[in-house]
Amino acid sequence: MTVKTETSKCLNYINGRWVASDSDELITVTNPANTDDVVGRIQKSTRDDLDQAVSAAKAAKKEWKTLAGADRGKFLYKTADIIESRLDEIAECMTREMGKTFPEAKGETARGVAILRYYAGEGMRKEGDVIPSTDKDALMFTKRAPLGVVGVITPWNFPVAIPMWKTAPALIYGNTVVLKPASEAAVTCAKLFECFAEAGLPAGVVNMVSGPGSVIGQGIAEHADVNGITFTGSNQVGKKIGQTALARGAKYQLEMGGKNPVIVASDADIDLAVDATISGGLRSTGQKCTATSRVIVQSDVYDEFKEKLVAKVKEITIGDGLKNGIWMGPSASESQLNTVLSYIEKGKQEGTLLCGGNRLSGEEYDKGYFVEPTVFEDITSNATIAQEEIFGPVLALMKVESLEEAIELANDVEFGLSASIFTSNIQKMLSFISDMDAGLVRINAESAGVELQAPFGGMKQSSSHSREQGEAAKEFFTSIKTVFVK
Ligand code: NAD
Repeated sequence: MTVKTETSKCLNYINGRWVASDSDELITVTNPANTDDVVGRIQKSTRDDLDQAVSAAKAAKKEWKTLAGADRGKFLYKTADIIESRLDEIAECMTREMGKTFPEAKGETARGVAILRYYAGEGMRKEGDVIPSTDKDALMFTKRAPLGVVGVITPWNFPVAIPMWKTAPALIYGNTVVLKPASEAAVTCAKLFECFAEAGLPAGVVNMVSGPGSVIGQGIAEHADVNGITFTGSNQVGKKIGQTALARGAKYQLEMGGKNPVIVASDADIDLAVDATISGGLRSTGQKCTATSRVIVQSDVYDEFKEKLVAKVKEITIGDGLKNGIWMGPSASESQLNTVLSYIEKGKQEGTLLCGGNRLSGEEYDKGYFVEPTVFEDITSNATIAQEEIFGPVLALMKVESLEEAIELANDVEFGLSASIFTSNIQKMLSFISDMDAGLVRINAESAGVELQAPFGGMKQSSSHSREQGEAAKEFFTSIKTVFVK
């Protein structure tokens, strides 16, 4: 029987049951647009809770992996249908919990549904190759084996899409899952697990344990019975998880930060480049790992681009993302707001402020974490705000003479997640595709677009050099077995 989580108190989901943590302690989650609004209370779980979840996942893995892929797929299709039927409710919860606007939250929830359906179909696709043996009497082929128990650790900025793009492939390839959501997104995540529960997945196949990262996240990384760990979040945390997993020989995958450039070449469609820079840099309040941050513009179009950009940024409507007509919501938390404000202060020392630069105040804003969309110019490549991930609505303009200089500047960061260029010249497009060190290179399109059927991940410090989504997910969530039959 499905026991639903109460709106005000979310339980852990372990071994097919909703259970309270042994700690008897809760973490309160408030709305970043209005901190008087309590979105929910989540379990402040302990290592004992985690142990129970891992034991349940371990016990369930044998039966789950022996199901036909198509039968595992049926559970994913069913979960997708249930999420779809609750789309508005889940999206509203997401907006209240971490602040992105309701239309964006709906789009993301629909993305979660599409991800589930994509991977449900994967259960009926080929899992190996037949390779000719040098022995004429032998049959040689490859097949895929699941890792076993997969630990999933997720951030708050995509509360539906990221849990889904990790959990759905983990399940379809025959793994069982223990997921730890970010506390700032755990109420929304509990709703996803209500949908898994209602779809009737066997007990122990999916488990969710909320709580502090240093306890539950680190506990997953250390746990001897967790065979693979997939993490999305900051570089600081990711690297620690990677070291812990490596030390005990577990497979791991890290998707981390970005500092994504857009290049506006002299032959660009300027209006298109302005709109894409705003959308890529400021949607979701700049809280996307693929958000545009460094805006590198060739000098002959610099003034036109700057004027049009600043005029449009000033028109952005800011407020509670549940209200009609709001384009940008608040920062997701007080600590996120403070980080953004401190980078803005740094930017005022490092360059020239063109617009924004303040926390918003007044009746509509006083109880939330609202900051103005902010644009700087005269920023050099080595400036802090040009090098470090801000995760807020801040753009830094840089002027260059040539395309070569632009690409050199675009590459002059430790990250390599996403990058885009605006140009109508095929030669410039090809140079950019070839010379840009980023996992995602986009031409005449914003840096923040990701499609679920294509590989996603970063170069350099942005990832552990693995890829998620599309067919690439198979590489992480399975091991290849080479079979020789004589
Ligand atoms: P975070 O690293 O603070 O937290 C991510 C997750 O790790 C959370 O669930 C958190 O509770 C947990 N965690 C925290 N401390 C831990 C510890 N010591 N051990 C184990 N787990 C721990 O990141 P965040 O603030 O939630 O998310 C923002 C970051 O995520 C940004 O850097 C952003 O670029 C990145 N991100 C990357 C991608 C990508 O695909 N590359 C996508 C979205 C977000």
